[in-house]
Amino acid sequence: MAVSTELDTVASWLRDARRIVVLTGAGISTESGIPDFRGPQGVWTKNPEAEKTATLHYYVSDPEIRKRAWQNRLRSEMWQAEPNTGHRALADLERKAALDTLVTQNVDGLHQAAGTSPERVIEIHGNVHEVKCLSCSFRGPMPETLERVRAGEEDPRCLDCGGILKSATISFGENLVPADLDRAQRAAQDSDLFLAVGSSLTVYPAAGLPEVALASGARLVVMNAQETPFDRFAAAVVSQQLGDVLPALIERV
Ligand SMILES: [Zn+2]
Repeated sequence: MAVSTELDTVASWLRDARRIVVLTGAGISTESGIPDFRGPQGVWTKNPEAEKTATLHYYVSDPEIRKRAWQNRLRSEMWQAEPNTGHRALADLERKAALDTLVTQNVDGLHQAAGTSPERVIEIHGNVHEVKCLSCSFRGPMPETLERVRAGEEDPRCLDCGGILKSATISFGENLVPADLDRAQRAAQDSDLFLAVGSSLTVYPAAGLPEVALASGARLVVMNAQETPFDRFAAAVVSQQLGDVLPALIERV
């Protein structure tokens, strides 16, 4: 099928769907200058030293790893990143069609920044814009803690209990938040159209969501530059650059 015909078809599915669930992965944020961390070609996957700062066991047991992690956070490309045309197109989708839930594997907060309603977004790997204490229930804004690092605290501790602080993301070796995963699975189960965008669909448990949707009879659309293990189950596969093709798709809805 020609690309434009295919987009017209997918747009008509989106228009007619009663419950749309979107899953996004690193691919949607690379055009905002944020590298892929977890995927098969990810920063962490290819660099074991960098991976240590993102692995709970090393982070908890080694103060040097924590110091390095805080320095990395100070320099992170996340703070300057802005939503791109792909994020904005998905925000438009909420206004034009029955978007129920947007599940993201990204921790950058760019969907909310682009205008998707925060209550529709499930960040299954957490969010870099907050810090959490590993000992008590304290959570706070990241900028305040980064200010303490800038002022010379190399390994800032929780002001309530003295516990170890970490960005409010899910590290390797750390469990997902069960309530978030439950909500994502229920949304996938209740969806009639599941749109997977910029995800390699290989990192579980996110990769389990299209499986749940398919098992419940939903139509699956995969938009990703590379092949995914779900392409053969998809009603349509779109592999053009997301920043171009997502606006072209949503415009047609
Ligand atoms: Zn604490």
